[in-house]
Amino acid sequence: MITVNNKPMKSDFTYDLLIIGGGISACVFASQYLKNNITKKVGLIEIGRGLGGRSSTRISKRYKGWKINHGSPNFNISNSKNNLLLKKYIDELLENKYIKIDDSEIFFLNEDSNLESIKKSEFSSGVNYLSFDSMSELSKKIIESNNLKEKIDFFFETLIVDMKFNDKEWLLTSKNGDKFKSKYLICSTNLLLHKRSLKILKVNQIPLRKAIPINNDKKIDFLLNFLEEQTFIPRLTFLIYTNENYSYKDFYSKQQRYFYLKNNLQNKYRFERIIFQLQDNNKLGIVVHSKNVELINSYISAKDEDVFKQKIIANFNNLFENNSLVNKLTFDEKISIMKWRASQPSGIAVPLSLQFSRKYRIGFCGDWFEGEGFGRIEGSILSALILEKKIKGLIK
Ligand SMILES: Cc1cc2nc3c(=O)[nH]c(=O)nc-3n(C[C@H](O)[C@H](O)[C@H](O)COP(=O)(O)OP(=O)(O)OC[C@H]3O[C@@H](n4cnc5c(N)ncnc54)[C@H](O)[C@@H]3O)c2cc1C
Repeated sequence: MITVNNKPMKSDFTYDLLIIGGGISACVFASQYLKNNITKKVGLIEIGRGLGGRSSTRISKRYKGWKINHGSPNFNISNSKNNLLLKKYIDELLENKYIKIDDSEIFFLNEDSNLESIKKSEFSSGVNYLSFDSMSELSKKIIESNNLKEKIDFFFETLIVDMKFNDKEWLLTSKNGDKFKSKYLICSTNLLLHKRSLKILKVNQIPLRKAIPINNDKKIDFLLNFLEEQTFIPRLTFLIYTNENYSYKDFYSKQQRYFYLKNNLQNKYRFERIIFQLQDNNKLGIVVHSKNVELINSYISAKDEDVFKQKIIANFNNLFENNSLVNKLTFDEKISIMKWRASQPSGIAVPLSLQFSRKYRIGFCGDWFEGEGFGRIEGSILSALILEKKIKGLIK
């Protein structure tokens, strides 16, 4: 693998294909594309320090030995029976032992905080799968399969802020001024296509709109119109590093255990779900997810983060007050907080027919496309598989 971070070699040559983003969708796309086009020059640009994006794992420098999935903890395929492409790919991941069936316990807490076993969440319908290792490892293994990792130039900690198309090739510019050239471009994120880019990237025009002005390509115009209507769910995840002797009340020993809160309970406790994650050292990591706007606002405006964290623990203890499985916390646990500005797309999904513009040699994949997997890993994987079929053999 050539890792070229902030070294002066990016604009010296033109890639056949550049991929923006290093989440699961980009990894699936890159591995499938390279399997069939091994001689092509491919680069992948990601602002984070590693692969995985919203389905990645926090390996804390401060708290040694902990690996906690802080975005998506697992994934579900709601229905692969009618989709052979997806079914075949999931079977491959299973055969390669990258994933396994997730038979962890899922509980639904009802209004009295009692346990119910009806599995009715968008994140648990159909078949659930778990990475053999962490969620970040899953993306890494996907891109490493068939020794493909060596074939890709990775540019981490690189934020693309500007894009141009000059009839022949794409020219990308990073925040640090690095330049990248490519014949074809894949965006696995829609940040550069969406109005939220104005604030986040501090630019005065949506980068894709700037690169392809209105009335040049109907597909691109439609795509941007759809994205005008797409919104995003902000979320907080609290990562709780429990103490040495913290355990369940029973003898449960599987990798994860999920507690989903029903709507009324979500309003009362402001938590959405709680995931217990068994660590290699047998300690229990706990991740609390919340999409409650009041809680997010109170976090943003909190004057003292430690006081805020204590309130989270108090809330946790109240929720599990009479629970037969979960012990209370002691208030001296360490907590990290992750704020997801755009944890999942919501509202309007983009039609798959707008996934590729031949004229502008640009393709798109990710969980923001239409289908049963909209807003989830299922949609990210499927859109990448479909895009790879569309672009196959096009790059000469
Ligand atoms: C807290 C949380 C819980 C979730 N729970 C579940 C769940 O239980 N089940 C489920 O199926 N899904 C869940 N999801 C959603 C799931 O994580 C996503 O659907 C999936 O990970 C999206 O993958 P992706 O590759 O499409 O996008 P991403 O993972 O977002 O990948 C895009 C990448 O592009 C990078 N990037 C963006 N802009 C630029 C730029 N300008 N320059 C360089 N890099 C850039 C980003 O850093 C990111 O890594 C959850 C998400 C969150 C945040």
